Amino acid sequence: MTKLIDGKIVAKEILDNLADEVLFLNKKPCLAVIIVGNDSASKIYVNLKKKKALELGFNSIVIELPEKTLEKDLIDKIEELNSDKNVNAILVQMPLPKHINPLKIIETISPQKDVDCFHPYNVGNISIGKKSYVYPCTPKGIIRLLEYYDIKIEGKHAVVIGRSNIVGRPLSQMLINENATVTLCHSKTKNLSEITKTADILISAVGKPNLVTENMVKDGVVIIDVGMNRLENGKLCGDVDFENVKDKASYITPVPGGVGPMTICSLMVNTYDLFKYQNSL
Ligand code: NAP
Repeated sequence: MTKLIDGKIVAKEILDNLADEVLFLNKKPCLAVIIVGNDSASKIYVNLKKKKALELGFNSIVIELPEKTLEKDLIDKIEELNSDKNVNAILVQMPLPKHINPLKIIETISPQKDVDCFHPYNVGNISIGKKSYVYPCTPKGIIRLLEYYDIKIEGKHAVVIGRSNIVGRPLSQMLINENATVTLCHSKTKNLSEITKTADILISAVGKPNLVTENMVKDGVVIIDVGMNRLENGKLCGDVDFENVKDKASYITPVPGGVGPMTICSLMVNTYDLFKYQNSL
């Protein structure tokens, strides 16, 4: 019998517990978000993050900078936040305008305030299996989902499709750290379906509807669908042909309502973890 992995329930439970802990603090964790330019999707994401932070009782700072902001001025702003003791977590909303080098910006954020976990210090620690200040939000949310549903990772063959720096690569490292045997696939992978058929845990993070079909998976597989695709009819769907694949899976995430809620949940947990670290709690 297939079980649905419900990210909304898991995220709510984690965030309710977090809100209860925050009630008893005499100082509040503070998340600062910088947005440069007028990208409408970015503005929606930033507002969602601010709303969630305030709901939890965090302090929230949103700094809106004009599209033409110079790279140097953005760096100055980040350095100001790095040294501000009242700010625990810093996020620069991506994408940035083309004249700004995102790598330089990411490297400017203090690793101890790097709430997205993009800084090479944190990423490097994860890749050598050393403790990091934080873990990247979507992969962290996926590991939490597997833990919540008591899905064993150790010794399993995990196949990850997609090698982006925000999902596929860090997730592969985190699964290795959990003692899975990991195969990381991408657009140049040959015989994708031969590989996916051997997966005990299959995670797709590509952004292509119906990439994963029924004949690509084995019976009993655990499927985590990270993909978020907007169809012509306006509906959201993942990378997996959910209706036809679900009966072969032991567990599967829906889209929406699977991985998505866990990403913002992890961002809030990261903010709190950085706050605790900085205040030696
Ligand atoms: P990305 O940076 O565009 O990376 C996509 C990856 O998929 C690349 O590694 C690419 O390979 C690979 N790929 C493309 N076509 C492929 C194919 N036919 N077969 C195998 N691999 C293929 O994407 P991303 O930022 O990781 O996001 C991936 C998806 O997850 C998107 O739909 C995004 O909206 C969604 N997402 C959801 C959440 C959430 O919270 N739910 C969070 C982040 C992302 P190459 O490296 O060879 O180009």
